[in-house]
Amino acid sequence: MSNKTSERFKAMRGKSPDEAGFFWSGGPIEVAERTFFQSRFSGVTGFETDEGIVLVDSGMAPLGPVLAGMLREKTKAPIHTAIFTHGHVDHAYGLEAFLLAGQPRPRIIAQKNMLARFARYQLTSRFNAAINARQFGGSPERAGAGEEYDSFSPPALMPDTLYEESFGFAVGGVSFEVQHCRAETDDSSFVWCPSRKVLCSGDLVINALPNAGNPQKVQRYPWEWAAGLRRMAALEAQTLCPGHGGPVVNDPAKIRRILIETAEFLETIVERTLAAMAQGAPPHTDIVHMVKLPQSSSPWLRPIYDEGEYLVRNIVRFYGGWWNGRPSDLKPAPRLEVAREIAALAGGARALLSRAQALTEAGDLRLACHLADYALEAQPDDAEVRRTVASLYEQRAAKETSLMARNLFRSAAAYARAGRPFA
Ligand SMILES: [Zn+2]
Repeated sequence: MSNKTSERFKAMRGKSPDEAGFFWSGGPIEVAERTFFQSRFSGVTGFETDEGIVLVDSGMAPLGPVLAGMLREKTKAPIHTAIFTHGHVDHAYGLEAFLLAGQPRPRIIAQKNMLARFARYQLTSRFNAAINARQFGGSPERAGAGEEYDSFSPPALMPDTLYEESFGFAVGGVSFEVQHCRAETDDSSFVWCPSRKVLCSGDLVINALPNAGNPQKVQRYPWEWAAGLRRMAALEAQTLCPGHGGPVVNDPAKIRRILIETAEFLETIVERTLAAMAQGAPPHTDIVHMVKLPQSSSPWLRPIYDEGEYLVRNIVRFYGGWWNGRPSDLKPAPRLEVAREIAALAGGARALLSRAQALTEAGDLRLACHLADYALEAQPDDAEVRRTVASLYEQRAAKETSLMARNLFRSAAAYARAGRPFA
């Protein structure tokens, strides 16, 4: 856990689930009869039955013992079945800590695409370590600093029961329905327990604007996500146990509002992005400025983790090609040559930066950062340039609301300080 993330946990302690949003940490809470929810960064739900526990998700490997400790305050039953709602490190890696000594290996249910995910993690292990270090640590150096993101290997306990579209089962007389929905990932599931009216959404609900745009990650599916939220709303759950944030207990109206508002939000962005793309296939970065993002004051749509602008980019990526639409970018010159040319025209890297600072003072950090990039690329050996660019990106990070923008800009500042002109 990075220092920044630990600070967030401390700041959220004692706040209600609604106030705390994505970073809510707490439990165990008995959310329904013999059903216990706890969260530390990500949520875990344990359904106690007469034959053992059905566990939905398992947290990160380093947080598994904390989460298991919370559940064990409530029940000492063995884990009969585990379901991983998707293969991310904060959901599928903490199971070992929940097992009782000597208990048989539980059945582990997952959507079948999870195996391809784990294979991809191995194929791109170092890349994944680096991008997660940027996203969560705000520094490229963290990739080698012993963080939990160091290695992207498959979890020790792999799923053994794979399904495609839906999977129903019963344990100790309690029925469960697992449904697949491509959303944040292509292996996402949500879990419904009809007799207890408890819905475990996985990361389809995270008490923050949906993570459907993430700049560094593989494709997300906001249109299918919206359809999945509507399917969940039709279940008329009494209690919602989300992937991140606090549970909603015995409040079906609020659950419905969360699901439907989020679906509408995603649908609106998809619709507006497709409409912008239809206007002559403009350059991708122009589409970002053409799409008017829907606004909401609902806590579950706050852009504290991901943000709307990134959703637009993710939709464009899915439907469009890799070319961003700028003619010069179809077969570009080496970027450093472009930067040196522009810096020379401006009268040097420092001249570019003084204009960047003027733009910053005028409040236009977006434009300022373009000039800052060229300045650093043209003169990475100039300590003054490095310092100024780092400071611009620190200022930009401080103004951002989403964890992703904040940390990627912090990472840009770290690269600038190191004289490495990319982030
Ligand atoms: Zn998650």
